[in-house]
Amino acid sequence: MTIDDAPREALRGGPRELLRWVATGAAVSRADLSRLSGLSPSTVSQRVEALISQGLLEETGAGRSRGGRRPRQLAVPTGGAVVGAIDLGAHHARVGTLDLSGRVVQARTLPVRIEDGPEAVLGTLLTEVTALAASSGATTSATGSTTADALRGIGIGIPGPVQHATGRIVSPSRMPGWNGFDVAAFCAGRIEVPVIVDNDANLMALGAHRTAHSELDHAVYIKAGTGIGSGVISSGRLHRGAQGSAGDISHCRVVADPAPPCTCGNSGCLEAVASGAALVTALRGQGVPVDDLTGVIRLIDDGDRQATALARQAGRAVGEILAVVVNFFNPQVVAIGGRLADCEPLLASMRATLYERCLPLATQTLLIERVAAGQDVGITGAAHLVIDHVVATA
Ligand SMILES: [Zn+2]
Repeated sequence: MTIDDAPREALRGGPRELLRWVATGAAVSRADLSRLSGLSPSTVSQRVEALISQGLLEETGAGRSRGGRRPRQLAVPTGGAVVGAIDLGAHHARVGTLDLSGRVVQARTLPVRIEDGPEAVLGTLLTEVTALAASSGATTSATGSTTADALRGIGIGIPGPVQHATGRIVSPSRMPGWNGFDVAAFCAGRIEVPVIVDNDANLMALGAHRTAHSELDHAVYIKAGTGIGSGVISSGRLHRGAQGSAGDISHCRVVADPAPPCTCGNSGCLEAVASGAALVTALRGQGVPVDDLTGVIRLIDDGDRQATALARQAGRAVGEILAVVVNFFNPQVVAIGGRLADCEPLLASMRATLYERCLPLATQTLLIERVAAGQDVGITGAAHLVIDHVVATA
């Protein structure tokens, strides 16, 4: 069992929480940690020693004294140790290194051609992330540690369904040649650090929750870009379900006339109505020459009548599905991220549908907002997956 799978109550003062309090500046000493956690000083010391021996915490000399001996200060090491993160999209990948508190050290966006297949795409991205880690280590490591020591693991987000236990991709849309590919095994053959694979919506959910709303226990994050999906935080942790498909709303059926065909073989799926790819297809079908999602968003921003109508229809469709999710799950916050999150007509009709279709009790205090974490939210989530793993095995 990893810490990620542990009940939230058991996490009070757990290693991950201690680490986060230091990383956020809430605690700078063992005494602070003892006060915040309610744990005895000896238990805190024991956990802190374990984290220090794993290189996850360090002591940085003396802090301010409140009388008596000056306490040693705790810090998350900023030099050397990093985690790697890859957030793969349909046309681009965000690749980065982050420190052990989840802060971005370096990040860059690379163009990718998903149709080149998993070996070529993942091979290039792994090379990129290890190069970034090497340069992070080379420029910031105070201890002169080697790259292998510096890179503690890599988290990878895939824009399709991932079987959580195996790290295998199962029946993705728009990823020809990737079905059944074992991402974890492929990476294990090329790099010796732990590699954790998940779908992109889960990583966005984790990244957004940890950076914006870690105090809330129940949250739903919609990722609306070329595809559409969602990630669920339940009782403070990522909820994956039995296989890892929890939150995958892409093939839920919505009311649409006519019901457009979907890549899965059915028709009228949310993805076929409301995803960025669906908007491109629909506009082209109406004779509007549009190259990609960027073109669609530009038309919507310009107030184009056809594009705006389609965005409203997409928002209603997302709202319909989300209303079922909210009635069923009763989250405290629903946040929308991805490239369509800035599309005002879509957001407005999603919100209206949600209020219309939800129980008053479910929406009374419900926060509906945009994911604020920006383009690094996916790699932040990926890094937290790895950090949780590293802490759990410390
Ligand atoms: Zn479908």
